[in-house]
Amino acid sequence: MKPTDIKNPEYFHKVVDCQYACPAHTPVPEYIRLVAAGKYTEAYMINWDSNVFPGVLGRTCDRPCEPACRRGRVDEEPVAICRLKRVAADNKGDVKAHMPQGPFPSNGKRVALIGGGPASLTVARDLAPLGYEIDLYDEQKLGGGFMRSQIPSFRLPEAVLNEEVNYILDLGIHTHFNTRVNSMKEVLSKNYDAIFVGTGAPTGRDLPDLPGRNEGAANIHIGINWLASVAFEHTEKIGKKVIVLGGGNTAMDCCRTARRLGGEEVKVVVRSPFSDMKASPWEKEDAIHEDIPIIDCHVPKSFVAENGKLKGMTFEK
Ligand code: SF4
Repeated sequence: MKPTDIKNPEYFHKVVDCQYACPAHTPVPEYIRLVAAGKYTEAYMINWDSNVFPGVLGRTCDRPCEPACRRGRVDEEPVAICRLKRVAADNKGDVKAHMPQGPFPSNGKRVALIGGGPASLTVARDLAPLGYEIDLYDEQKLGGGFMRSQIPSFRLPEAVLNEEVNYILDLGIHTHFNTRVNSMKEVLSKNYDAIFVGTGAPTGRDLPDLPGRNEGAANIHIGINWLASVAFEHTEKIGKKVIVLGGGNTAMDCCRTARRLGGEEVKVVVRSPFSDMKASPWEKEDAIHEDIPIIDCHVPKSFVAENGKLKGMTFEK
């Protein structure tokens, strides 16, 4: 009989539903067993190996593993797989000693990573120990990309992010922060053996054609840009009455951030029925617990601006 090939994801499809559902195929039962045994460092390292940012994901993962969890079929609720990842991360001991130790003998190859977010950092983590010399470029002053600019600090403390980003940068990555790459030609001229573009798709949704959009522009913000502006401390307050349009997780982050920045009457207005919203159920719950009503089935019709100032919005039910 051939040994089981656990490198083939199909194996987990047949056997371990949660592990198959996790996009990184994290060995969920293995690390939960270790957490149960109080072996947090080992549990962390199992996670670090497969999903790279256990402390970040233990707080923010969208947890596709949990709906797949078989306990959900008998107990109604699945095992709290995501939060157990956080338990491992928060209680671990010295994990650095278990990570690859540089300096690594060079293999003579140079790789450029464009963007300093999770994609590039993962590439860096996997290639540095193999002896690749890595240059990482990002326009921000620190690594982390969207994890830093889009996830509000009340969900992901900066210290947790910095720790996990630094585990990777400490592998000997040459960082070029505050450096925006505007020309691929220029990067190509530097004779890299490979270039990885890990820039993501950082464009938020706007409603450019809605009447009043331009007149009210000073008080209308694009979700992801606004969250970044809060993360980088350019924005420190918001008006008392706030409408957040949209039903995804960004909208949930925006409304809860607005609440913390002085929004007294914050409402989420979404086109779809509540049950069809894209936001994860627990994100909606958190918003509702903060007294933020979610008004569904309302389609935005116009921004109402008076004398160049935004006064409200009209919707069609
Ligand atoms: S919480 Fe996220 S990273 Fe962890 S096992 Fe589930 S899907 Fe994978």
